[in-house]
Amino acid sequence: MSTERRMSTATREPNVPTDKGYVVLIEDEKNIAALVRYNLRKEGFRVSIAGDGEEGLQLIERERPDVVLLDLLLPRVDGLEVCRRLKQREQTRSIPVIMLTAKAGEADKVTGLELGADDYVTKPFSPRELVARIRAVLRRRLATAAVLQFRCGSLDVDWERHQVRVKGAMVKLTAKEFKLLKVLVEGGGRVLSRDTLLERVWGYDPALEIETRTVDFHIGRLRRKLKSEAHRVTTVAGSGYQFEAGSEGS
Ligand code: CA
Repeated sequence: MSTERRMSTATREPNVPTDKGYVVLIEDEKNIAALVRYNLRKEGFRVSIAGDGEEGLQLIERERPDVVLLDLLLPRVDGLEVCRRLKQREQTRSIPVIMLTAKAGEADKVTGLELGADDYVTKPFSPRELVARIRAVLRRRLATAAVLQFRCGSLDVDWERHQVRVKGAMVKLTAKEFKLLKVLVEGGGRVLSRDTLLERVWGYDPALEIETRTVDFHIGRLRRKLKSEAHRVTTVAGSGYQFEAGSEGS
């Protein structure tokens, strides 16, 4: 193992970051595992190997890697079952899974993708192809994270978990206030009229006779809860409201 590490360091280009991501490989065939590890390390990935499904699940649960490479034919717990369990558990659901499949296992491939695997590579695969797939999956994951998280000044929003924080402190919003914030942020700085907000937040139906001052009332409550970030929700006289990300937003 130490010889391998020295070799991979020697071939690494200068200025290449040493940690491109953490990969857990579940593969019982030792020669394939060693080959994959060698090539991934050379590309700057950290790699841990599990030799069977049970061990793999424990390793992933404990270490939360950035990506899982999963062989399908494994002792004890097979690859499809590993995939199913990973995608069922809240803590591991978002970790991308790339399946390593045999050409003959076409049905397994389809089942794996149905179970939530993100991609697959057919054996025998080239190290370059594998690295390209890993990079693609990691890029997609980053893009998803950016969509699900919103950060602006000291305001932090997790759209998926419905969590809002200001300066790290959790802010409790009602469902309507949360929706209102979301619609305003999605407006991307455009001025949204009270009618537009009614329609997008309340699903406005004239028959419900919801008045536009309902919007003003909820905007007021949202602002109070956002405390030091309240200034981002601005009133545009005669027009409506807008969300201002401002220059300090990142
Ligand atoms: Ca195998």
